[in-house]
Amino acid sequence: MADKSLLRSIPRVDAILGSPRMAALRGQVPAGQLTDFVRASLARLREEVLSGERDHVAGEDELARDIADDYLARGPHRLRRTINATGVVLHTNLGRAPLGPEVAAHVAEVAQGYSNLEYELGDGARGGRGSCVEGLLRELCGAEDALVVNNNAAAALLMLDTICRGRDVAISRGELVEIGGSFRVPDILARGGACLVEVGTTNKTHPADYERAVAEGAGAILKVHRSNFYMGGFTEEVGLPGLSAIARQAKIPLLFDLGAGLLMPGEALGLPGVPSPRAAIRDGADLVCFSGDKLVGSAQAGIVVGRAELVARLRENPLARALRIDKLSLAALEATLRLSRSRADALGHVPTLRMLSLGREELLARAEALAARVAGELPAFACRVVELEDEAGGGSLPSTLLPGAGVELELAGTPSARLEALLRAAPVPVVCLLRDDRVVLSVRTLQEGDEDEVVRALGRIAGGGAR
Ligand SMILES: *Cc1c(COP(=O)(O)O)cnc(C)c1O
Repeated sequence: MADKSLLRSIPRVDAILGSPRMAALRGQVPAGQLTDFVRASLARLREEVLSGERDHVAGEDELARDIADDYLARGPHRLRRTINATGVVLHTNLGRAPLGPEVAAHVAEVAQGYSNLEYELGDGARGGRGSCVEGLLRELCGAEDALVVNNNAAAALLMLDTICRGRDVAISRGELVEIGGSFRVPDILARGGACLVEVGTTNKTHPADYERAVAEGAGAILKVHRSNFYMGGFTEEVGLPGLSAIARQAKIPLLFDLGAGLLMPGEALGLPGVPSPRAAIRDGADLVCFSGDKLVGSAQAGIVVGRAELVARLRENPLARALRIDKLSLAALEATLRLSRSRADALGHVPTLRMLSLGREELLARAEALAARVAGELPAFACRVVELEDEAGGGSLPSTLLPGAGVELELAGTPSARLEALLRAAPVPVVCLLRDDRVVLSVRTLQEGDEDEVVRALGRIAGGGAR
């Protein structure tokens, strides 16, 4: 039951704002935001006391210091930095690909001033928005031309609306997929004004199935990568070279929604067989679309590469204006693509690729180091190093589990689900795994400096400040 005197001991907003610690902060941050933050912090404290979760309230000065530290750690925003301790590298709920410091710095520089976004500095005339990345994409994908839009869903929609409107489009029944939320291939085809011609069966599609559809008048062939599930057993599909032969003979375009395009050979990441846009173009796709924030490891973007005359038609579609990419994403994409020209630069400076390339030995060593730190600094926790199976995530490599490692944690008197919730509520939230009713932190997806934040969060939890 709530303790009345404890409730009364919670200071007033004005008292906290008047403390020396807050006075120091007040000149540096927007005053209204600070007041809102203090009010919300005290309201949360009151709720915790009322629910019996908290059995003591710190003194005014200590409370003011904690709230000021929280403000500096988390700021006033709802959308904020979060630590991903799930081992899922491209976690769509956690913002997919993190940017490396070089790329983020370039974005910040472009964001803080004006830029030559649509301006040719050479001749002082209007320029094309995508010109900073199109050449790089042509080079990296071995394609005639390239176009970037807001995301891959937009790229697929633009491709189908431009090329397939009013046509019959042949697609395998095994590829009529739903990719997260409400993005369903048949619906996008319908939106694009195309008429879906299903060929083959769920598990098996043969060249003759496509040939029949083409003979009956299909005006394009669409292939969709099965990004978020995999089929095993008695299955067969027609690969791009086979589809390309059929499309070429009928003089119709072959379109490929690749989903997650990797700009280097999968072998470089220890992931052989990962499809790449370069291979798709080489194998005869006329247009290939993929995301900027999956295996490219950059900002949200939709990239289309392929034949120059088809890309030109996409560029002229009025829909392209509605789906255009924003300048900050474009800045991130250019910086990432420049790094992607060298395998060493990409693996060293594109976090997604670096995280995917980490092997179990390296991860075990990082997990040992984190466990040793927790054991040394926070003896209240029982921790042990465990082997894990991490995932690429984000609809990229559904059938590939990555050998990972992590730290399993227990705190006497605190159920695992409660510990997991407290980590999520930390000033820099930590999202972890609950495995066999134990809290587990996978180290693969921890970024530079995250271990310090994790230890700080655990310290607050063990100290009762957040319990
Ligand atoms: C992820 C994915 C999409 C959607 O891409 P976004 O960039 O999230 O819009 C479309 N098609 C496939 C095959 C995908 O894997």
